[in-house]
Amino acid sequence: MNKDIATPGRTKEILKKYDFLFKKSLGQNFLIDSNILRRITETAELDKDTDVIEIGPGIGALTEHLARTSKRVLAFEIDQRLMSILPDTLAAYDNVEIVNEDILKVDVGEMIATKLPNREQPVKVVANLPYYVTTPIILQLLHEDLPVSSMTFMLQKEVADRISAKPGTKAYGSLSIAIQYYMEAELSFIVPKTVFMPQPNVDSAIIHLKRRQEPPAEVNNIDFFFDITRSSFAQRRKTLWNNLVNRFPELKAKKETLEPALAELGIDVKRRGETLTIPEFAILSNFLDDFMRK
Ligand code: SAM
Repeated sequence: MNKDIATPGRTKEILKKYDFLFKKSLGQNFLIDSNILRRITETAELDKDTDVIEIGPGIGALTEHLARTSKRVLAFEIDQRLMSILPDTLAAYDNVEIVNEDILKVDVGEMIATKLPNREQPVKVVANLPYYVTTPIILQLLHEDLPVSSMTFMLQKEVADRISAKPGTKAYGSLSIAIQYYMEAELSFIVPKTVFMPQPNVDSAIIHLKRRQEPPAEVNNIDFFFDITRSSFAQRRKTLWNNLVNRFPELKAKKETLEPALAELGIDVKRRGETLTIPEFAILSNFLDDFMRK
């Protein structure tokens, strides 16, 4: 087996050979610790029947671990400079395809269909994400129609906390709900800054997201549900009622009817948004959606 890219020595050697300078604006913090990479691939539960999508291969540190442990790797890299480096660093692997694209501009469903044909199962996404765009990338991949069964990401610990947060905690908010509605989210382990080159300013963590077979609650109008959840956290110190009225001022005059009706469904509008579970937000949004249509 080849010497790992993810060692300080080999990484420095590659950077020097190609005169590569990190672009901070692209979130370039490369992994230089093979143990962490092994733990990431273990968390992702890969095998030789599984196809993997990687976002931002950099110089290929994670890519080569994915190539060794999965069937095929399709990697999207925005930085054109890396297109001449990756074929060299990954020369030993014939199951990797690199696409020079911004992941946010790619039709991922179309790419999976054309670049990963004859699949026997959904793909898994694994990435050490560029930290300036973690949330938009994750939200893009959540889409129900995508054949993606799990995502394993290295990201800022603070974002990993928010994604995996449970009701009643400070980190719980509309991002937790946006993701947990579709995926089971688990913060797998925390990663020290020392495993990166250059070292980022913040702590990192690995998060594992597994697609749910069924959503955790029945929601009649998904856009309205996410609107309600976002509005309920708009001002965290305010009650659910105050946040709702801020978003829908027309409800203000209906308090006499709404408050007891919602209380009957188990939703006390004097609570704060952060105490509501996803099934409770579903009850709230289904009821209000009905109420506001009348
Ligand atoms: N996977 C490598 C590693 O672990 O060492 C590099 C990870 S580095 C944190 C993030 C990578 O994502 C960089 O190579 C960067 O150029 C790339 N990148 C940044 N924005 C991107 C985007 N919108 N689409 C695709 N790749 C992107």
